[in-house]
Amino acid sequence: MCYSIPAKVVEIKNHIGVIDYFGEKRNILLDDDRVKTGDYVYAQGGILVRTIPEKEALEILETWKEIFFELKKVDESLSKIKTDKLPENAMHILQKVNLRKTLTKKELASLFELDHKNELSVLYEIANNVRQRSHGNASCVHGIIEFSSYCQQNCFYCGIRKDKNIERYRMTCKEIVETAGNAVDKYGFKALVLQSGEDYWYSDSKLEEIVKSVRQLGVLVFLSIGSRSISTYKKLYAAGARAALIRFETSNKASFSKLRPGTTLQDRIALIKELKRIGYILATGFIVGLPEETSQDIINNIMLTKYLAPDMYSFGPLIPANGTPLEKEAIIKKELILKTTAIARLADSNSNILVTTALETLDLSAGKEALLAGANSMMINITPVKLKKLYSIYDNRAGINTVLHKSIKQTTDLLYNLGRAPVDTGDIRGLK
Ligand code: SAH
Ligand code: SF4
Repeated sequence: MCYSIPAKVVEIKNHIGVIDYFGEKRNILLDDDRVKTGDYVYAQGGILVRTIPEKEALEILETWKEIFFELKKVDESLSKIKTDKLPENAMHILQKVNLRKTLTKKELASLFELDHKNELSVLYEIANNVRQRSHGNASCVHGIIEFSSYCQQNCFYCGIRKDKNIERYRMTCKEIVETAGNAVDKYGFKALVLQSGEDYWYSDSKLEEIVKSVRQLGVLVFLSIGSRSISTYKKLYAAGARAALIRFETSNKASFSKLRPGTTLQDRIALIKELKRIGYILATGFIVGLPEETSQDIINNIMLTKYLAPDMYSFGPLIPANGTPLEKEAIIKKELILKTTAIARLADSNSNILVTTALETLDLSAGKEALLAGANSMMINITPVKLKKLYSIYDNRAGINTVLHKSIKQTTDLLYNLGRAPVDTGDIRGLK
């Protein structure tokens, strides 16, 4: 199974390569001087992952040739706008989207007020259409290894917060590399997220060793290790990490300080901005459904995400976790996430939007619905099954007992049924 098909480098200029997937072009960053025009490569998130011998690439492309165009057709037909039954002011705003004009915050807020089932389904259709026009049927699938459930933070929403008395684990470098190696060799993953609590047992040098070893497997290393210092992130970039997933969680300052005791929104944002400056591909976003949250907060969250200019939006519902200060919080309706997905897509047509496990936990069919409302990326949990259960940021996570080959099949079946192909979703030539 393959989570990114090879592309041919057709042009190189100042470390930017233009790569071609059956005639579809993408720009990628080439941080390897040995790559030349004519080479075949794997790319993820607009970045070179590794080169691949021509013979091997051509064999893979031969098997993909027909299916690639078939998938495109399915996606094109599913992303057609079928109806225009919307209130007049909403129609007017969406005509702006059609003309690729930027929507104002006020316009996004007024779309957020759409509530009727029929209106929402038109909003989703339009967002899906925008996704298709911006990204084609490209979708990325990353693997995620949750390597430590120890955390020194006490976030109110999180089931592995420091004060919660739970059984915890840490994976050794050897275990992480074995898990990653299996995902790469056996299942063909091209990007792996290494996620953990904020766990300082992993010193900078331990993390560097982990990053170097996983990078050597020929994958994009994506960090999700929380608010570690800028100097740590710089060292890990030098060790080969190229992407970072770090949410700001909420744009509401007061709520942030209350829910993440001892930390400030300002510091989190400063770190996120610095990660971009270092060169990391950024994934960021927020939780939907935190206490006392208003629609305005959600719009502010979308606007802050857009301002941070990430490669990928990551937001999902709060799943109230037992034994946390938010355990009694109400569970939000999936429509709120679908609406947020559609509006984020209309706010920022070029971004990648992730379907989160939290959303799939809320409702098993919501992943598919989000993909049809503007989302285009997914993650597969590759943490060993016996440890997955202990990484209990919330309870009863979707797929917690599913063995890896089954999760892969479920995800790829879902994507293929919707006509999505595992093409790099990075920088689209001419659009960004
Ligand atoms: N420790 C790191 C990464 C691991 S936590 C960090 O905090 O950045 C990954 C994400 O899980 C967090 O960013 C948070 O948004 C999400 N999360 C934690 N508890 C949750 C819950 N109960 N419901 C939904 N998402 C939750
Ligand atoms: Fe720790 Fe991240 Fe959970 Fe906060 S959200 S308690 S930092 S694992």
